[in-house]
Amino acid sequence: MSKVYVANHPLVQDRLTQLRDKSTDIGTFRRAMADLGYLLFYEAARNLPVTAERIETPMAPMQSPRLNPTVVLVAVLRAGLGFLDGVLAQVPIARVGYLGLKRDPKTLEALSYYKNLPEISSADTVFVLDPMLATGHTAIAALKEIEAAGAQNIHLIALLASPQGIETVQRAFPNLEITTAAIDPILNEKGYIIPGLGDAGDRLYGTLGH
Ligand code: URA
Repeated sequence: MSKVYVANHPLVQDRLTQLRDKSTDIGTFRRAMADLGYLLFYEAARNLPVTAERIETPMAPMQSPRLNPTVVLVAVLRAGLGFLDGVLAQVPIARVGYLGLKRDPKTLEALSYYKNLPEISSADTVFVLDPMLATGHTAIAALKEIEAAGAQNIHLIALLASPQGIETVQRAFPNLEITTAAIDPILNEKGYIIPGLGDAGDRLYGTLGH
């Protein structure tokens, strides 16, 4: 079964509290989400492949590890964009793709409206930036597209997950790795995570009520 890692580092939990608090202003919300992109990617990237390279320090030659250029990021629109700058601060060499997926409010199924993926090979590690793992339908739609594009190593980075979302995604993608800041107990009938943080995309872009 796939591995789920909950990052309970104090910095992660502090930024998550900022996102959960409904009185947090939009600027602080954006900043906290970018910080979480940075921090969660740091946790998720621990097994990325490196190659030892011969370099010279000012004092001596040595063999030292460099990150392989095999990192692909796929931001699920809209909310995944909130993570992107924070993740790119750590891996400026990453290729980046975008998947536009929205939920049908009645069926809660994912509807695709945009796709732009870079070339992906079986040697790459693809990090899917999908902040809310709620029903799991959006994540599964994204993972199917990414697998069809050639990916074999896929890692999902989510701010928050529901137990149902994790189970649904794990059943469809048993080898998937998931890194999240917390697993909240309830998924309501409208597909929202409780206590959660509300609609991540609306809070990120100031479109609440539209
Ligand atoms: N998407 C969100 O933005 N919030 C939720 O709670 C669930 C899905």
